[in-house]
Formats: sequence, structure tokens, C-alpha cells
Amino acid sequence: MAADYECDLCGAGCRVFPIYASVADAVREPRIASEARCREAWLASPEQRYQIYPLPFLETCSFLQADNRCEIYSTRPDVCRRFQPVGTQCPEARQKMQLPLLKPSERGPSSNFRSDRA
Ligand code: SF4
Repeated sequence: MAADYECDLCGAGCRVFPIYASVADAVREPRIASEARCREAWLASPEQRYQIYPLPFLETCSFLQADNRCEIYSTRPDVCRRFQPVGTQCPEARQKMQLPLLKPSERGPSSNFRSDRA
């Protein structure tokens, strides 16, 4: 059985990688269209219509709160839904933030970050 990793809410994934949102994401969460940058037509695809991060004068995604929780968690973009505390992106983000890698959870498979962040 694969190890389960428990997110410690470091927020690295919300401040290290470019974050794009789709047209469907913006329909689900209207704040995306009002707060993100709508990309020029020649640059955008339907999946990457809005640039949420980076944006001028922001050091994190604008929806990242001071406690590292997502302000729009229940309606966050699909790219954020796919980001898990396993795989390659999470370790890469943590390394860029000079954070130690997550260790496998001792609380079992039900203690992942979804239940902690909802
Ligand atoms: S929308 Fe939420 S989960 Fe996605 S990068 Fe921003 S703060 Fe993080």
C-alpha cells in the first residue's frame, strides 16, 4: 500500500508555481474572473484562460490566506484540486521554499489534507 502524506499547510504550492484557471473554473468561482488576469487570446487556451499567479505586487496567490488556507477552497481551480502532498510538485515546491520534505503520515490514510482544509 502506498504511503499517505498529510499536508502541513505550508502554502508552497500557492506561491512557487504559476497558477492558471480555466473558463470552467471561472464559471464555478466568479472571483477568478474579477481577481485574476485574463490572458490575451493568442496566449490563452480554454484550460489556461486566467492567470492567478504570479501577478504584480503579489508574493502568493491572492486567494491564499494568512493561515495558508485557500479562501476559495471549495471552488478552487482544477489545477489546485490535482495538487496533492505526494508526487513531484509538492516536493519541488517545498524544496524551493527551503522546507523539509513531508514524511509519511502516522495517522493513516484518512488523515490527508482534504479533511483538514475543508
Ligand atoms: S486558488 Fe487556493 S489552492 Fe489554488 S493556488 Fe490559490 S490559494 Fe492555492
